[in-house]
Amino acid sequence: MSKVALVTGGSRGIGAAISLALKNAGYTVAANYAGNDEAAQKFTAETGIKTYKWSVADYDACAEGIARVEAELGPVAVLVNNAGITRDSMFHKMTREQWKEVIDTNLSGLFNMTHPVWSGMRDRKFGRIINISSINGQKGQAGQANYSAAKAGDLGFTKALAQEGARAGITVNAICPGYIGTEMVRAIDEKVLNERIIPQIPVGRLGEPEEIARCVVFLASDDAGFITGSTITANGGQYFT
Ligand code: NDP
Repeated sequence: MSKVALVTGGSRGIGAAISLALKNAGYTVAANYAGNDEAAQKFTAETGIKTYKWSVADYDACAEGIARVEAELGPVAVLVNNAGITRDSMFHKMTREQWKEVIDTNLSGLFNMTHPVWSGMRDRKFGRIINISSINGQKGQAGQANYSAAKAGDLGFTKALAQEGARAGITVNAICPGYIGTEMVRAIDEKVLNERIIPQIPVGRLGEPEEIARCVVFLASDDAGFITGSTITANGGQYFT
């Protein structure tokens, strides 16, 4: 029987590419999403991948959603914490709501999703947790104190949990994408993108969602069993750690 992979924010952008790549690699995939029903329905119609709606910012909703996925598809073997949002603002103008929304989704979302699957993975002596952080969690980004803090927190979470999961056959890793051509990035003013952002990327282009998806498929595989607590930096040479 094929392993079950659950991808948060899995019906659009990078998450959609991850869901599809995992399906093509032989996993039974569940794609979670927050509210864009139209995109989710289209994604299911095009790929046959089941979509499940709940917010990763809500612990109870995550526990209920995961229980539904496991009842329908089987125990989650691979969890990809990909869902994320931006609420950008220079710090002097940042509201408490902008701070809280981003921390609740991009950082607490990892706790909310990982906690309910952790015991089962420990019992079964196998698990793969893959967290999608960001270049801006590594280097910090003006206008994104909330996002940079959450994404840096994701890396600390990854390293701590890797130590706890190691003896139980659970690997926990992170991927830090640079600028990838999804709606999140295309929403940036075109002039800013072409004149300020792309010139900073040594390879001279945005990344493709599929390039991140292939990293996920590798980290999920048996071949990656000795890799845990690590970060794959995939940013076209823009920043080295
Ligand atoms: P998109 O905005 O294209 O898609 C975001 C996805 O996350 C959507 O499916 C959305 O659901 C889902 N989502 C948002 N909030 C929640 C929530 N509370 N609960 C469940 N699902 C939620 O983003 P990207 O594909 O660009 O980004 C994916 C991840 O990669 C994010 O974590 C982002 O921070 C990270 N990243 C992206 C980079 C980029 O250049 N694009 C660079 C570095 C990191 P719905 O469809 O319902 O709205």
